[in-house]
Amino acid sequence: MIIVMRPDSTEQDVEQVVARLGERGYGHHISRGEERTIIGAIGAPDHEKEVVAGQFSVLPGVERVVPILKPYKLISREYNPRPATVMIGPARVGGGHLGVIAGPCSVESAEQVMQTARAVKEAGATALRGGAFKPRTSPYSFQGLGSEGLDYLAAAREETGLPIVTEVMDVRQLDGVAEVADCVQIGARNMQNYDLLKEAGHCGRPVMLKRGFSSTIEEWLKAAEYIAAGGTLDIVLCERGIRTFETATRFTLDLSAMAVARRETFLPIVADPSHAVGISHLVAPMALAAVAAGADGLLIEVHPRPDQALSDGPQSLTPAAFAELMRQVRQVAEAVGRHV
Ligand code: PEP
Ligand code: MN
Repeated sequence: MIIVMRPDSTEQDVEQVVARLGERGYGHHISRGEERTIIGAIGAPDHEKEVVAGQFSVLPGVERVVPILKPYKLISREYNPRPATVMIGPARVGGGHLGVIAGPCSVESAEQVMQTARAVKEAGATALRGGAFKPRTSPYSFQGLGSEGLDYLAAAREETGLPIVTEVMDVRQLDGVAEVADCVQIGARNMQNYDLLKEAGHCGRPVMLKRGFSSTIEEWLKAAEYIAAGGTLDIVLCERGIRTFETATRFTLDLSAMAVARRETFLPIVADPSHAVGISHLVAPMALAAVAAGADGLLIEVHPRPDQALSDGPQSLTPAAFAELMRQVRQVAEAVGRHV
């Protein structure tokens, strides 16, 4: 833990910090610069660091406190330096294997899911995704078919062999979703639903955790740590775009987040360019950029008739456009040492 004093802090302020450190049984190291004094706290146990940092940050003359140990441990590179592979059914994600998870935003009918599943399978997707429980921004928008939708997904897996990724929005849905899904998705809006994260950690399935669109990378990683602490390290992170001032796209795909997260965690990281850009003709360039930037997989919305989709039609690729994207993805993946 490092305590950075304000330029106008007094000697008394510094002494008080040092005294408080002593009271806690910590050692200290003072470094006096031209402008600022920095106090290193030595010997704080890991489990105390976050709380103590908060307490010290409000002492007079303190500008900020930087806890050195990462607030996420189980998912950190320190804990496991090698990139992990997560199995979604028979599909590998990570460790050189690119997972391509494709399908409609919402499950709308048995026929729509089956048709999409056949098409994405033929194009080379490794998993099928579709929402049965939908987190819609408006309560008047289509809310999904619920458990009926799960049945349609299961039927599509039965025929195509593609494993299923589908979203769970609430702890009460978890058992039902985990029974059918090969991987449960926790969406951007639920990234900080800590009870759901904890429960998902022991639902018996891998978890794909989307980044909240107003969350920092650190908050995202801490959310993943909740799942890990809940019981599983089979976690796939998904960067799906964040809110910025830009209005030309729905969100802004944060490519650098993947590179940053990669240094911090061994968990596989996939990109969702569909929700990030929100416009179908921008999906392919961002998908390719994400693979080039090191993504371990992609999440792509595909609909047999985007003009009739009940949700996210404008960003959905037709099966033909998806097949073309897959051809390009393979080339980029090969160039950066990954394969589909
Ligand atoms: C989705 O994947 O269909 C979805 C709702 O995404 P997000 O949670 O990223 O908005
Ligand atoms: Mn969607």
